Amino acid sequence: MQRSTQTTAILFSFALLIVSCAHVDHPTRPATAGSPVSLSDAERQLETPGPIAYEYIQSAAWAVPLSGLLNLDHPIAQAAALANRKEPIQVGLHRLSHPSAGEIWIDTGLSQQIIDTPADFSLGPLVRRVMNFKDLEATHTAEAVVELHGAPNQVLLTHLHMDHVFGLPALPAETVIVVGPGEMDQRGWEGAALRATFNAFFTGRPDAEVLPFDPDTGDGIAGVVDLLGDGSLYALWTPGHTPGHMSFLQRTTNGPVLITGDASHTTWGWQNGVEPGSFNVDMARSARALKDLRALAARHPQMTVYTGHQHIPGAR
Ligand SMILES: [Zn+2]
Repeated sequence: MQRSTQTTAILFSFALLIVSCAHVDHPTRPATAGSPVSLSDAERQLETPGPIAYEYIQSAAWAVPLSGLLNLDHPIAQAAALANRKEPIQVGLHRLSHPSAGEIWIDTGLSQQIIDTPADFSLGPLVRRVMNFKDLEATHTAEAVVELHGAPNQVLLTHLHMDHVFGLPALPAETVIVVGPGEMDQRGWEGAALRATFNAFFTGRPDAEVLPFDPDTGDGIAGVVDLLGDGSLYALWTPGHTPGHMSFLQRTTNGPVLITGDASHTTWGWQNGVEPGSFNVDMARSARALKDLRALAARHPQMTVYTGHQHIPGAR
């Protein structure tokens, strides 16, 4: 009896430790640029081509459990008889070139250093095994992109999960890093398991800049920020996958582009309206964000959509 009480106490303490571990010990400050606008304002000129030259780059191929990428308990997933399996995914980065703001990345792809010297970033053998590193294969590293186009002036992170910051080691210390509200303060198992890695990625960098969204109204798209002040690039606060998760809307030289981030990891999930699975911190909010993003895309049939991890050209 006493032993079981002790065991319960130990497990409880361990659980408390996990939920109380921040992802990263890095300071933040309010972003210096960007102002809140309404979604309808952001949509008004979407069909007019904008100034941004845009390129999606697949930085790595990987495979992860489908149950993390998709809510397999969703009635539509059940009707499709989807079972858990290892699902091929891409780890990508989005490269934007703006006439005055210069090079901007959304997410970071994969750094060659993660493959060559993972221990330098506290990615030990156990973590690498749990994360299925054996299936992680670089296709176009962040270093290769920097060599070709120069380093970005700023990096907009859809969210603070490992597969979205894996390219940070390739970037110079002065690169500005921009995040959504509360993203750097989130707590959970990933913080417990990977905190040293996140810290290694951020150490020596300027304070992360938090975008000035209006207070969260509880909607799917909780806010919109015009990032460059010229109506060409918008951050959409789409919490659910993580608290500060962001999607991005841009007016490129080739028309409107929506980057969902992990509001939808997969093409199938996007097309069928099934939200991500166990990788979410808040399934209901993630589902609302996905619903709002799909409605936005439906209002703009010319829009190209990039999901978080499976870009299939022409798929919408
Ligand atoms: Zn992801």
